[in-house]
Amino acid sequence: MDISPYRQRRLLLGQRIQQAGGGIAVIPTAPEQVRNRDAHFPYRADSYFQYLTGFNEPEAVLLLAVPAEGEAQAILFCREKNLEREIWDGFRFGPEAARETFGFDAAHPIDAFDARLAELLADQPALWFSLGHDAAWDARITAALNAVRGQTRAGKRAPARICDVRGELDALRLVKDDSELALMRRAASISATAQCRALRFTRPGRYEYEVEAELLHEFRRQGCEAPAYTPIVAGGANACVLHYVANDQLLRDGDLLLIDAAGEFSGYAADITRTFPVNGRFSGAQADVYQLVLEAQLAAIAAVKPGAGFLAPHEAALHVLAQGLIDLELLAGSVAGVLESESYKRFYMHRTSHWIGKDVHDAGEYRQGEQWTLLAPGMTLTIEPGCYIRPAADVPQALWNIGVRIEDDVRVTANGCEVLTDGVPKTIAEIEALMGTGR
Ligand code: CA
Repeated sequence: MDISPYRQRRLLLGQRIQQAGGGIAVIPTAPEQVRNRDAHFPYRADSYFQYLTGFNEPEAVLLLAVPAEGEAQAILFCREKNLEREIWDGFRFGPEAARETFGFDAAHPIDAFDARLAELLADQPALWFSLGHDAAWDARITAALNAVRGQTRAGKRAPARICDVRGELDALRLVKDDSELALMRRAASISATAQCRALRFTRPGRYEYEVEAELLHEFRRQGCEAPAYTPIVAGGANACVLHYVANDQLLRDGDLLLIDAAGEFSGYAADITRTFPVNGRFSGAQADVYQLVLEAQLAAIAAVKPGAGFLAPHEAALHVLAQGLIDLELLAGSVAGVLESESYKRFYMHRTSHWIGKDVHDAGEYRQGEQWTLLAPGMTLTIEPGCYIRPAADVPQALWNIGVRIEDDVRVTANGCEVLTDGVPKTIAEIEALMGTGR
């Protein structure tokens, strides 16, 4: 395992905290979650913790002691070796091996954390912590602060400031380093293969969950630990339900199928949506709406470049969609009027992009003060315009229940962007050709 990216991120976080006056940063991993009775959900480490450590066991905390000058010390607290528990639940590093393997300055048993934190917090200028994220951790941190305050007569002082460490971490996570990009490319290419597999498998008479099974099979077969989010496999009218996850309906001849699904590889997400005809051939009305969304998506991708605001791709997509909705006689008036009144929101009610990385909706600010965050090389975001047409008296009947979204993940480069998820086709001709070879 290459630990240098994790060391580098701890170093950068330490520098940022030092510039803000130093102190003690506490970054716990996520707790295990009960699914029902004594069965747990598959464990997933906290993204911030994982980003800084590469350590995936539960019951662990990273403590970063940042002096006013000099290098920060990284201390891990984790579960001790325990042969009996390891027989039942599997391998544990234990503090000593964890320190060596992951390159921490020190490591201690998790049971020693509360007492040690109270010692280390004494006379520190600030505590850096994600207050409000987890009630149990908030209580633990409060207890440690009060333990220090209890020693004021002994001359100890509790930190005067509590700062949200997520602010500094989000700024770091917004720009992906090379090792992150390598994992994101892998997540993207596996997810693209899975989408192609689902495309070839789809035909009238199959159920949405059968298509979902093809996706899950391909994610896991290629080493993804899990889907990056609950797959949406939405045939016909279901595509107009934005967060449809029941995936239990029959796929019908003449309907479209919208699939929003991707895998998580080594803690990094992809996020891909494709929409295609269940029977392999777009009808005229479906092709009209599909081509419009595709052109909006291509315009949005073309708007991704360094120095553009986060909202630039959305605005580019909106211009194309507004004209298209007028051409399809779904909306009346001018493009400027449609944009001004936001009447397009009846058919396109979500944003075109979100950050993507360790979390599918990744860390990072969308605004800096009054201004939208400016895109910079190494940032990664989705581009996902759509059009969702529900039945209504004022809507041409041929367009009823057509729901289309096309979503790719892009990385901002020095002069534009790289599409990470281009392994799955999206032109009408390519989709029809791929579906034709599958049956
Ligand atoms: Ca998505």
